Amino acid sequence: MMQLIKSLKREISYHLGLGYAPPPESVTIEVDYSCMFRCKMCQMWTKDFKTSRIGNNKILSNCAIEGIIAELCSIGVKSIYFCGGEPFLRKDFLDIAKYCKSKGLYCSTISNGYLINEDLAKQIVTSGIDSIGISIDSADRELHDEIRGMKGAFDHAAEGIRLIKQKQKEYNTNLPEVFINSTISSKNFFVLPEIVDMAKSLAVRRINFNYLSIVDHSTVELTNQTMGEKIVGSHTFSDVSPDYLLQKEHIDQLEIVIENIKRRGGSEIECALDPALLSGNKDLLLKGTFPVSRCNLPWRSAMITPVGDVVPCAMFTNYKMGNLGETTFREIWNNKRARNIRRLLSKDLPPICQKCCMVHMDAPSLWKRFSYKFLKKN
Ligand code: SF4
Ligand code: SF4
Repeated sequence: MMQLIKSLKREISYHLGLGYAPPPESVTIEVDYSCMFRCKMCQMWTKDFKTSRIGNNKILSNCAIEGIIAELCSIGVKSIYFCGGEPFLRKDFLDIAKYCKSKGLYCSTISNGYLINEDLAKQIVTSGIDSIGISIDSADRELHDEIRGMKGAFDHAAEGIRLIKQKQKEYNTNLPEVFINSTISSKNFFVLPEIVDMAKSLAVRRINFNYLSIVDHSTVELTNQTMGEKIVGSHTFSDVSPDYLLQKEHIDQLEIVIENIKRRGGSEIECALDPALLSGNKDLLLKGTFPVSRCNLPWRSAMITPVGDVVPCAMFTNYKMGNLGETTFREIWNNKRARNIRRLLSKDLPPICQKCCMVHMDAPSLWKRFSYKFLKKN
């Protein structure tokens, strides 16, 4: 009942352009941007990215993050998604995750899998964490390593999954749910179905196939102009080589590849294909855009950066609604800046929303509940 009232309040506020939002259901916490990989479609490992996002500020301590989680829990947040960089580079990451579980929250994360040895696998399984996505872009060792810019990436990720599964048996638990996260690019497009076979051999039951788009400079500038200030921060998917985007020959074969993926997955593997791929709008796919016409994510969720800034979503990281070192989440959630951006977004979505990757987020049901509509086929 409470959830229903919350949803109603949110919808009313959205449609009347009021800017207010009931407390969020889920929050993303970026624990750090450090990563040892050099993925071709990610900017996070670059010095420029880290400098522009963190500058001279200190990243939040374990204690500070636990304080934030306690507050989020007290206002009714139900799930926390932890992301990085590579979260396991933070030595205290599982302590944070355990604290999150001790408060009864759903807790999920994503990892490149490189650090998961037997000891870490045991800690992951005994932490109580609910779900973990491991990035695998190809069942071919060389190709995965090339895309991810790290020799040994494939072997570590596959072994990491195997070890977690082994520890689950030892500790007689199904948690965490282990799923594979695959970013679709021109490099792996034709070998995507092989990932399904690989998932089967590793006893993984879910694969998220995510469509790659590029956040180009003109879209960023146009968005900042539309919104009246520089709201878009350095983005993970900016400056990706156009070679990595799907080309016409890929889009033309899309239906066949999707069919192949579904057939191989059968009832055994849930293959969650990015909704952009299922829209069937080949022109938009070729342009690398998502046909999003509505988004109420900033009414339902927020993102907390490693330095404690609260931002509306992963794209608008320069739009700081407040900092948790200075004030509480409760104070920030409906403050003037928070209401202002929601008002603007409820009128119209800026151009960057057509390239938004938030549909890839892993939170319970978020994949299905994300509010957007696809434009009709041209
Ligand atoms: S995509 Fe993930 S694994 Fe790759 S560099 Fe970025 S943060 Fe690291
Ligand atoms: S579509 Fe993406 S960028 Fe736009 S408001 Fe929603 S989450 Fe933010």
